[in-house]
Amino acid sequence: MKLTLSSMTKTELAKTLGLKPFQGRQLFQWLHQKRVFDFDAMTNLSKPLRAQLTETASASQLELVEMQESKATGTKKALFRLHDGETVESVLIRDRKRTTICVSSQVGCALKCSFCATGLAGFTRNLTPGEIVEQVLYLLQDEADSDRTPNIVYMGMGEPMRNYDNVMASIRLLMDKDGVGIGARKIIVSTVGEAKEIERFTQEDWQVRLSVSLHAANNELRSTLVPLNRKFPLERLHDVLSGYSAQSGRQLTFEWTMLKGVNDSVECARELVAYAKGLKVSVNLIPWNPVSGLPYHPTHMADCNRFRDILEAGGLKVTVRMEKGQDIDAACGQLSRTHGKA
Ligand code: SAH
Repeated sequence: MKLTLSSMTKTELAKTLGLKPFQGRQLFQWLHQKRVFDFDAMTNLSKPLRAQLTETASASQLELVEMQESKATGTKKALFRLHDGETVESVLIRDRKRTTICVSSQVGCALKCSFCATGLAGFTRNLTPGEIVEQVLYLLQDEADSDRTPNIVYMGMGEPMRNYDNVMASIRLLMDKDGVGIGARKIIVSTVGEAKEIERFTQEDWQVRLSVSLHAANNELRSTLVPLNRKFPLERLHDVLSGYSAQSGRQLTFEWTMLKGVNDSVECARELVAYAKGLKVSVNLIPWNPVSGLPYHPTHMADCNRFRDILEAGGLKVTVRMEKGQDIDAACGQLSRTHGKA
């Protein structure tokens, strides 16, 4: 089997391939900064080295199967095939001010949140650091230079904290100045509340941001939406998040997918205000994107606004996420592992 290069740092490239440090850096720049995967086009590498690479290594672990673009919003959705035939999707979303890329961290997901498409088919495997980073590299390939430091959110398929080491390695690769060079504050890792990994994440020496998919602030309801809540109930989660706020000084985000008649009542909003006390947190309300076969409906706009008003009156900063990819099934929770079956 050929060596796969996109998971490696500059130093690892040099070491593994027996190169000088500057050659490791040049190769890294071709892959991550110029997003060139053809060794023959890497003109500042010597001919023998290019031949050696062609023989022994593969520049890319992903095969781009399809790239769809929404005419209305410019949202792009990419479908990739992995070396073992599995598929993953990722999305690039634009608004006036910024570009955001939403990456997958696993094939499938084991957590089975009741309203999410990814969990339906269960968990298959973790993605490697390179398989995560390449989603970004491919989505940026045709972007204008000025758009090239997007936000990166780990909100595609999978639970990033269940693939901790590879996700953190992918973040380091994305932050490398010789690569995509993304600032730590522009990266968000989203989790359903894996308490132990949040504690680990708190110790990381960087400004990468954390988002927690809360969806309910009472245990009974939350356990029906997010089964992991039975293992790490809200009280435990609050403890680790207090630790996170105190130690890192960083603000965190709560994600709240609005499900009509389920978690959008006045009472639910008040519970959230109470739960957020003592945490440095803002709230992101996400309209539920229908997944066929699941027994939910999106909250009406008026109820969404009422919910937001209660949170704001309680002192919370709230954003309501506008979905931008529905016409190509690229909205939250619609990424799928099986082509065509969102
Ligand atoms: N496993 C991680 C990251 C992936 S999901 C997590 O749960 O945080 C990213 C966000 O999309 C989560 O907040 C998730 O609850 C939400 N989501 C999942 N399915 C959705 C859907 N159909 N509509 C709207 N949001 C959804």
